[in-house]
Amino acid sequence: MATKVSIGIDIGGTNSEFGIVNEAGKVLARGMINTPTKDNIKQFIEDLAKGIRQLMSQINDAEYAGIGIGAPNGNYYAGTIEHAPNLPFKGVVPFVELLKGQFPEMKKIVLTNDANAAALGEMIYGGAKGMKNFIMIAIGTGLGSGFVVNGELAYGSDGFAGELGHITVTAEGRECGCGQFGHLETYCSATGMVRTAFELLSHHNAKDSLLANKTFNQLTSKDIYDAAKQEDEIALTVFEITGDILGQALADAIHITSPQAIFLFGGPVAAGELLFKPIRESMESHLMPVFKNKVKLLPSQLRLGEAAILGASALVAK
Ligand SMILES: [Zn+2]
Repeated sequence: MATKVSIGIDIGGTNSEFGIVNEAGKVLARGMINTPTKDNIKQFIEDLAKGIRQLMSQINDAEYAGIGIGAPNGNYYAGTIEHAPNLPFKGVVPFVELLKGQFPEMKKIVLTNDANAAALGEMIYGGAKGMKNFIMIAIGTGLGSGFVVNGELAYGSDGFAGELGHITVTAEGRECGCGQFGHLETYCSATGMVRTAFELLSHHNAKDSLLANKTFNQLTSKDIYDAAKQEDEIALTVFEITGDILGQALADAIHITSPQAIFLFGGPVAAGELLFKPIRESMESHLMPVFKNKVKLLPSQLRLGEAAILGASALVAK
């Protein structure tokens, strides 16, 4: 009997990963290509198709449900990637249409925002199995989010619903990649944490901090985590500030969709309680009494490194 599988593609700012996933959520084969730095979509689609064909040749007797794609600024309705600040492709890219040209035999080719794909992955293969209302927060270069309401992903009128990363947390605050100011992701993404660290370092003239000798481009959220584990004051304060702002924003989100749980996903989530504790405290302190002590704050249960592929494949898996 043929093995039922689907293909997941995760388009990232640096790399694009893809894999073939079976019905149990096992990644049977995976590959990766560099996302180009120049706007050459034709070449990128060809390279991607070549990589996927190579994986397909490794799996015998497979029945393909289709291809699911997670991409920044992905429009589920139109199958397009639109004005993504972290990708080289300018304007509106008809990604699904271009990929259909390479894979005319596929029954379904579906694209969505990368955080929405992660939410679907969590729902089908991860910790949100059986949940009808939850929020997925993906903390990386930016802060992505997917809202599952009444068992379905919220797409909104134009396919772009659920952009928690772009709610205003500080009027006239930091400049955001979207062109606005003071948005949540400028504070509570991995990049936002680095920005906070640098602000603290300069305000406190903290030459003795473990973070003091790095340049802005060298410093990562992992460095901040490592320094915090060694009780570095600046690093600990970064986690407190990040948790405080994110917790407040999550309370706002809870007031709107009343989720059973919020899942956190991405590199900084490895910091565990260093990040979860200040988020939970701030979140609970900003909640209306009817929501207090009800909503679980949980780390994503998707396997690290495979989550994006799983999430994208979940788009067409069921
Ligand atoms: Zn923004």
